[in-house]
Amino acid sequence: MNMPDNPERTVVGRLAPSPTGGLHLGHARTFLIAWLAARSAGGRVILRIEDLDASRVRPGSTEGAMVDLRWLGLDWDSGPDVGGPSAPYLQSLRGGFYEQALGRLQAGEWVYPCACTRAEVARAASAPHAGEEGPAYPGTCSWRTVADARSIADRPFAWRFRATTEPIIWNDLTRGRIELDPDRGGGDFIVARNGVGAAYQLAVVVDDHAMGVTQVIRGLDLIPSTPRQIMLYRRLGWPEPAFGHVPLAVENDGRRLAKRSGSLKLETLRAAGVDPRALVGILARSCGWSSMIEPSSPGDWISRFTINTLSSDPWVVPDELGSIRET
Ligand code: GLU
Repeated sequence: MNMPDNPERTVVGRLAPSPTGGLHLGHARTFLIAWLAARSAGGRVILRIEDLDASRVRPGSTEGAMVDLRWLGLDWDSGPDVGGPSAPYLQSLRGGFYEQALGRLQAGEWVYPCACTRAEVARAASAPHAGEEGPAYPGTCSWRTVADARSIADRPFAWRFRATTEPIIWNDLTRGRIELDPDRGGGDFIVARNGVGAAYQLAVVVDDHAMGVTQVIRGLDLIPSTPRQIMLYRRLGWPEPAFGHVPLAVENDGRRLAKRSGSLKLETLRAAGVDPRALVGILARSCGWSSMIEPSSPGDWISRFTINTLSSDPWVVPDELGSIRET
């Protein structure tokens, strides 16, 4: 666990869908950018399925995500279906790695056992998207030490990470310099639930490190998670990847595309007979790589890829796609 998989730090990107519902157009755009950022640098791409939260996993979603991504023309060098040096690529099978990292955090007293906020504890396995962050943790249990876990072992408890107090700064690949104060970003956060397993924040850091990931490109709504993950990298003594956050996709009335809403899912577009090459052309235009819709496959954009033309505004799904919906 101390030696990363990728000692030369060659570019490795990842696609990390949660199999909780079908992928939508916003995912398609973010994954296209993540894929091109790696491929245009001659790098590798990993597909990792983030299925930690069993209560939210929808049967068939993992296979569905792979069908959607392949339909779009994306591929990966390592993943649940093709294997690879850091297998397994399903988070639900990686509990031992998370345990080991938690043990290191416990050894340094970087985490403490916390028996409050049951709702937050229950949500911790999933990546917190916009509006799901909740208020900052007031520090009720922060006086506890690791050894106190024994005294609260009769009730459900979580392991909470002691956030540092200095601002966390990173140079975001799409947004430039970002500085966030961990306290304003929620303070101490949950990394595992006793007897249940790792929370999203710990799992994603352990996996990205173990898989040698050097570039994390994902939706803008995960920005509040990034300082937390950077703090974990630092405490675990691991090199941090570069982070880039892609603006979300919105409907033309400004509503965010939610993968739970049933609208504008890739499977719906596929069933409606949309040509994936036309879709890639629409996505490429939306990223500023062309002023026209050029029917194309993702590989056609490798030499023209740049992240600099990406607007920092949300992407308003164009009418020709917005009209294709599940009925
Ligand atoms: N699996 C997360 C999601 O679908 C993404 C996490 C990440 O990219 O770090 O929301």
